[in-house]
Amino acid sequence: MRVLVVGNGGREHALVWKVKQSPLVKEVYCASGNAGIGKIATRVNISPTDIYNLVRFAKEKNIDLTIVGPEQPLSEGITDRFEAEGLKIFGHKKAAAVLEASKVFAKNFMKKYSVPTAKFESFDNEKEAIEFIKSVGAPIVIKADGLAAGKGVVVAKTEEEAFQAVKDMFAGKFGPASKRVVIEEFLEGEEASYICFVKDDKFLPMPTSQDHKRAFDNDEGPNTGGMGAYSPTSLITPQIEKEIQERIILPTLKGMINEGRPMSGFLYAGLMIGPKGINVLEFNVRMGDPETQPIMRRLKSDLVEHILQILEGDIDNVKPQWIEDYAIGVVMASKGYPDSYQKGFEITGIDEAEKDPDVVVFHAGTEEKDGKVITNGGRVLTVTATGKDINQAREKVYAAVEKIHFEGAFYRKDIGFREVNRFKN
Ligand code: ATP
Repeated sequence: MRVLVVGNGGREHALVWKVKQSPLVKEVYCASGNAGIGKIATRVNISPTDIYNLVRFAKEKNIDLTIVGPEQPLSEGITDRFEAEGLKIFGHKKAAAVLEASKVFAKNFMKKYSVPTAKFESFDNEKEAIEFIKSVGAPIVIKADGLAAGKGVVVAKTEEEAFQAVKDMFAGKFGPASKRVVIEEFLEGEEASYICFVKDDKFLPMPTSQDHKRAFDNDEGPNTGGMGAYSPTSLITPQIEKEIQERIILPTLKGMINEGRPMSGFLYAGLMIGPKGINVLEFNVRMGDPETQPIMRRLKSDLVEHILQILEGDIDNVKPQWIEDYAIGVVMASKGYPDSYQKGFEITGIDEAEKDPDVVVFHAGTEEKDGKVITNGGRVLTVTATGKDINQAREKVYAAVEKIHFEGAFYRKDIGFREVNRFKN
């Protein structure tokens, strides 16, 4: 088989790495990839959102299966166009991708189908938004309606901060994505990620995981795309998992069918678990980055075989096998991220780090230049390791991280700290 993976981040490197292990697969292509992906697959110089040329490429190369990493191509209709051409693709149609692409849609949907989520109102003008903030008070959360690469959310501790966020958004900070905003109740608790393969009203859960969104240790600093993750998380007990499936995943899949928007692909529920129970902070219609990296490290069985079977409607008989070990991923980022940063610095030490057989380094913002690997983005690498428990996985991952160097590299030193603390008690 020939498989095409669409995307160019750490998540896609992990997917390509896993696809490559499938005995069914002869050739793996990735549009457009990064330096790490280029070492194990054929890179295709087409942007993930250039759907017209992706279709052309897939037809020309007789691609048997396309797997979509990021949300943008899904919400721009890549699946609709591939399927119209008779090409097999794993990812939601545009109509279903709106569950991530519009927070106003997602929140109204959750309300309609009683999926637990923070109380909210949506606004399309500044004046009413500000009146609302005054009536509710702080802390309060302001979210741009559309896609903003994980940066369109402000958790405001004071009313002034909330006013400023609303003003910035209506002044066009995120372009059309912030023409409307959702303002919602601040929820306390601990976050976790629950990701499933889904098809119509059926789902197949992957192991649980936990991301670390803030830039710096102790969850300080601005929100980022994610600075590290581990899997599994014992925060999600079997009882909590049952509740997630019954009260969140299933009603969502059934509700989407009822709305004429059946789902087929990955479904990611970003959850807040705390005094107000289990609430959905957001849905994503793709796997998480960085959660994908540790989750793929734990998948023993064949991802491609599973996806083919799911696409055939046989999800009930898919039996993925996961290793028992913990897996952890630490993101190494460029100084300045998530704001502005410089690119083009040489990265060294990856081979050295990967000498430990339990370590795999996934690339995100990297490029190859004159035979060297250089930085080319905010999040540069996700270094992953497995271990028999969270402590061993952490020791291994940080030993590997310390071997890797580039100018301005920074990373969180506390990925997995909540899990470590849980086991101390
Ligand atoms: P991404 O696309 O990176 O996953 P996003 O932009 O879609 O993120 P959300 O996941 O909705 O945004 O929110 C980002 C972060 O803001 C959450 O991970 C959480 O830490 C915080 N947050 C969001 N909503 C709330 C809330 N109601 N109460 C407390 N914190 C919240």
